[in-house]
Amino acid sequence: MATINDNYLKLKAGYLFPEIARRVNTFVEGNPEAKIIKLGIGDVTEPLPEACRTAMIKAVEDMGDRSTFKGYGPEQGYGWLREKIAAQDFQARGCDIDASEIFVSDGAKCDTGNILDIFGKNNKIAVTDPVYPVYVDTNVMAGHTGETNDKGEYNGLVYLPISADNNFIADIPREKVDLIYLCFPNNPTGATATKAYLKAWVDYAKANDSIIFFDAAYEAFITDDSLPHSIYEIEGAKDCAIEFRSFSKNAGFTGTRCAFTVVPKQLTAKASDGSEVELWKLWNRRQSTKFNGVSYVVQRGAEAVYSEAGKAQIKALVDFYLENAQIICDKLTSAGFEVYGGVNAPYIWLKTPHNLSSWDFFDKLLQTTNVVGTPGSGFGAAGEGYFRISAFNSRENVEEAMKRITEQFKA
Ligand SMILES: *Cc1c(COP(=O)(O)O)cnc(C)c1O
Repeated sequence: MATINDNYLKLKAGYLFPEIARRVNTFVEGNPEAKIIKLGIGDVTEPLPEACRTAMIKAVEDMGDRSTFKGYGPEQGYGWLREKIAAQDFQARGCDIDASEIFVSDGAKCDTGNILDIFGKNNKIAVTDPVYPVYVDTNVMAGHTGETNDKGEYNGLVYLPISADNNFIADIPREKVDLIYLCFPNNPTGATATKAYLKAWVDYAKANDSIIFFDAAYEAFITDDSLPHSIYEIEGAKDCAIEFRSFSKNAGFTGTRCAFTVVPKQLTAKASDGSEVELWKLWNRRQSTKFNGVSYVVQRGAEAVYSEAGKAQIKALVDFYLENAQIICDKLTSAGFEVYGGVNAPYIWLKTPHNLSSWDFFDKLLQTTNVVGTPGSGFGAAGEGYFRISAFNSRENVEEAMKRITEQFKA
């Protein structure tokens, strides 16, 4: 009989979002008249920017004419998109990133998982706790961990706790790790990183020959000019960091699918014979073999993000969600909640009242206000006692949800 990848059996059964859906469905069955407002899953709600739609409609027309029809495109993405990304997202910020170092893909989620293909089996891997669950689960699937302990932590991973005690900024580890996942602005906590903080990580990575996986999916939400949008704004980062970006959260591409990963050509890691190998070559080989590029139509839509009209529309979109975040922060603070994030980020991370567990607060909020959020413990053991509220929703829903919460919880 065929055998399976046993590592999949180590994955924790009740994945966070299915469990949320299960509890909401049970509640709705018993309370069919309840008007549920979902401030849980991190998906956008507002429609695609007009500039992107117009570009995609035009691209569909191109596909309908033999002279402009496109078959397979370059696995790395079209040059015209990679050039714009390199110029506007990086060179304009003083980062010396070339278009050839940009790999266009159909998602930062898959890229953060797939990147493990080009790394060895014996790396020591660090994640923050709480964390975006994809980083952990893809390491479990790849066989980089043991089983979980009673706190739900996988043996073999290094967990760097983040909480109000350290301002949701992980301490630089004393031990040596080889691969480190960092996400700023952070999902789930909404925390941001200063240049000085990222510099400390870059210095650590260079001193220990480690590689940083920097997930900047939320960089568009940074409004504070002093905060870095890219890790390559830090000197030396090209020697130690791979950056993941996405059009999902800035341009509403969660259902359209386009992202990119930056692998600097000078970045290397060791082969088992001790030689240093360029990671760019391996990622290029990996993508060329296992991936056939993002659709031409979608890449044209992504290109429009860099047009003048596109930039203005995307700024309006991001500003809209940031205003939601501000409303949520203000209302929850006035209702007596201890609130974090929500500035330069679309997520609000709150301390549950009366030391309720994350899931107990989830149930209480659902039952008393019909508002759905995300239990912090679902992102890791150190997320226990916290709760994530997302700013991705209509203004009407955000205001209604905050009205219900302030009425229910007012001091
Ligand atoms: C939403 C999100 C992404 C983007 O994923 P896509 O696959 O590009 O939609 C990446 N990282 C984090 C932490 C996210 O929350």
